[in-house]
Amino acid sequence: MSEPACLFCKIVSGEVPAKVVRETARTVAFRDINPQAPTHVLVIPREHHVHVGALAAADPELLAAVLGEAHEVAVDEGIAETGYRVVFNTGAQAGQTVFHVHAHVLGGRGLGWPPG
Ligand code: IMP
Repeated sequence: MSEPACLFCKIVSGEVPAKVVRETARTVAFRDINPQAPTHVLVIPREHHVHVGALAAADPELLAAVLGEAHEVAVDEGIAETGYRVVFNTGAQAGQTVFHVHAHVLGGRGLGWPPG
């Protein structure tokens, strides 16, 4: 399932270019266009789901695949041992701006807590 107006569906289809770092049959990982850390990669399912809760309800195996790919990105980027953060902004008040679920993989610098 894809949504014609969805930016990340267009990245999946290749209509919008992206710096893809990993791909599987069900997921794509690409660099964030406005990185907030030395490593800032987004991992998405190819299928359109609006947020992590919707994905968890519809296809928990696919959510597990997204999380597994997030870790593989961290391994590839050399930050799996030093530490990294996986963030799903969920809903507008939490800062979600693209309504196709995506895991932010952030690392390569110290990350403050609590987040802003
Ligand atoms: P959100 O605010 O959690 O929804 O995250 C959306 C992310 O998508 C932001 O970090 C944006 O910088 C990023 N983004 C928006 N458009 C593009 C693009 O075309 N390519 C890569 N990342 C994008």
